[in-house]
Amino acid sequence: MSFITENYKLAAETLAKAFAKRGMEACYCATVQEARDQVLSMIPEGSSVTWGGSESMAEAGVFEAVCQGNYEFIDRKAASTPEEARALYGKIVCADYFLTSANAFTKDGMLVNIDGASNRVACIAHGPANVIVLVSMDKICTTVEDAVNRIRTFAAPPNALRVGAKTPCAKTGVCADCLSPDCICCQILVTRYSRVPGRIKVVLCGEKLGF
Ligand code: SF4
Repeated sequence: MSFITENYKLAAETLAKAFAKRGMEACYCATVQEARDQVLSMIPEGSSVTWGGSESMAEAGVFEAVCQGNYEFIDRKAASTPEEARALYGKIVCADYFLTSANAFTKDGMLVNIDGASNRVACIAHGPANVIVLVSMDKICTTVEDAVNRIRTFAAPPNALRVGAKTPCAKTGVCADCLSPDCICCQILVTRYSRVPGRIKVVLCGEKLGF
């Protein structure tokens, strides 16, 4: 076991206690494969399942497995008109399980997410009965301020490229604190406590996922 792996395992034990104090459950999986299996084991067959955009869930193969599994899959991209999208969003907020990642988390158990369309942060905050957050250990930060800096330095610019946003960071590679129409940093959500115990379940992965 490398020292980094050993450190992640130790840190995850500390983090699980920190998340528990905040009404969230957390567990640790050393590998992406274990994390994928863990996420799937948490979703009873027959559940309605949906997600916000999450590179981590996609990379781990969770989306593919859910699509092929015995679930009621609610695909947010299935709508072809604004009216259909609105009706679909009504189903999404009432889903049994919402799958997502976190852009960062703090060492004392707060999740930090930044969003453009903001469906993801909305569903983390309220709506779906259960939220499963798959996040790799490299996204640990000291404070909320550090987390926001991390996201706007390392996560938002590549994400802007991924979605084809016409933002300054997509041209220069660095955040310009923009107010552009395509901005993907419209909302900052800090999840510091869940009043519904265990609604948010965090799967910490020892191998890198997403950005
Ligand atoms: S330039 Fe705009 S979209 Fe890009 S990281 Fe900064 S605030 Fe976010």
